[in-house]
Amino acid sequence: MKQLSGQEEKEALGHMAQAAQIAAGSTCERSRCGSLIVQKGEGIGSGFNSPPAHLESQKRCGFSKDSYHKKVTDKTCCVHAEQRAIMDALRKHPDKLAGSRLYFIRLDEEGLPSRAGKPYCTICSKMALDAGVSEFVLWHPEGVCVYGAEEYNLLSFRYSE
Ligand SMILES: [Zn+2]
Ligand SMILES: [Zn+2]
Repeated sequence: MKQLSGQEEKEALGHMAQAAQIAAGSTCERSRCGSLIVQKGEGIGSGFNSPPAHLESQKRCGFSKDSYHKKVTDKTCCVHAEQRAIMDALRKHPDKLAGSRLYFIRLDEEGLPSRAGKPYCTICSKMALDAGVSEFVLWHPEGVCVYGAEEYNLLSFRYSE
């Protein structure tokens, strides 16, 4: 993981601001997140979290995660913003995923971008690595940090509080 500074940080914060605008489209009732995948300054895929296929019938935001059997592997209610961005990039620019950076941001209750904690979503960490995304970018309390996709996956599985 490396923390960005100077011009690199400025550019990354610009992409984070774009991801925050994308997050505003989320219809999840639990949290609103946005993701943007960038290759050489160009956005190649984006997404926000919401029910699968945006179907009202599939909305599970009101269900407790404890209400599912332990065999249910993914207890999160909505398709994640990163998953959506990856699928979007695979559809539109499958040849541009190698070397790309995935930006992720979560909005707070007032709709403002919030700082991220340590990575923990192994659904997205595996999918990003498998699809060929090269780096993950999070906005931490200490600043904008970039993780290699392999590192991000390992750290996500090692998450602890
Ligand atoms: Zn939801
Ligand atoms: Zn995720």
